[in-house]
Amino acid sequence: MFAYEIEASKALLAKASRILVITHIAPDGDAIGALTAVGLGLEQLNKQFTLACDDQAPNRFSFLTLVDRLQTVLTHNAYDLVIAVDCGDMQRMGCVFADLPDPKPPIINLDHHVTNTMFGDVNVVDPKANSATEVLYYWLPALGVTLTPPLALSLLTGIVTDTLGFRTVGVTPRTFEAAGDLMRAGADLTLVMSEALTLKPLSTLRLWQMGLNNMRFEDGLLWSVISNEERKATGFEGIGSAGLVNMLADVYQAAIGAVLMAYDDGKVYVSFRCRPPYSVSELALNLGGGGHPLAAGCTLEGPLSKVQEMVVAMAKETIRSQSQLS
Ligand code: 5GP
Ligand code: MN
Repeated sequence: MFAYEIEASKALLAKASRILVITHIAPDGDAIGALTAVGLGLEQLNKQFTLACDDQAPNRFSFLTLVDRLQTVLTHNAYDLVIAVDCGDMQRMGCVFADLPDPKPPIINLDHHVTNTMFGDVNVVDPKANSATEVLYYWLPALGVTLTPPLALSLLTGIVTDTLGFRTVGVTPRTFEAAGDLMRAGADLTLVMSEALTLKPLSTLRLWQMGLNNMRFEDGLLWSVISNEERKATGFEGIGSAGLVNMLADVYQAAIGAVLMAYDDGKVYVSFRCRPPYSVSELALNLGGGGHPLAAGCTLEGPLSKVQEMVVAMAKETIRSQSQLS
């Protein structure tokens, strides 16, 4: 698997001595799992590295080793290699990459999004993998890295969160084999399930309450719009819908579920989910975002009412055209 890219990435790594590892803005469990796993791997290889992301890691991932090393603003900018994890395109790396002086360092792009633009000098991208950490589960040992208990825990966290606890469509026997192997290497599945997936702050339930209250259903689209004031009233400060969009899409009558949520900077974060035969990756791509066939998103400039008008029209059109295909 990825034989050519592994050799090419090894060659880039061998030459590098100051490595910047970046994961995507508004990081999720796969993003933080992959970031810390690469850090733990580079530690074993005796490489100097910085772990970076424009946004802080959500608190629920504080059980992962190295998460306290994450920098949202870089303390220096002299790097000779960038490793991007779980980023579908260059913009997903945010300012920690964009603000690096030109010429930028070479990039190893490690990812699993079907919309990946292959922006790396070396691309280790497997759209069949359920998570970026599943790609790393193969890539890191190929570099000579041992799966220690903390490293296995980071990898399992990405697999568990991106598959919603092994419930998504792409889960295969290989996913379970990787998870089983990581458990044997010392990762505690119960800990990951409860810390990364099940436990949540009260503000999340308040957000769901608001979202379900604002929910609308038309032409197969089940969606909810949450204004900046409404979001702030719930106390929810995270980016993304904290599972609300899955709840909407997991309804028999819904072809696509969507959540539109506004933030202080006037931007609107949009999340889409669906079940086969529908696909939302093209829809998100057409709106300037990206993702997977069944889970995708984008960020748009407000005002919220205009964004809603456009997103709802395009999502309904997606349902209309795709229902003819099935
Ligand atoms: P979520 O709805 O959970 O925030 O995102 C669903 C999927 O879409 C994730 O895989 C996420 O990485 C991807 N995604 C969300 N927003 C964007 C975006 O603006 N650009 C790209 N390329 N992918 C996105
Ligand atoms: Mn991912």
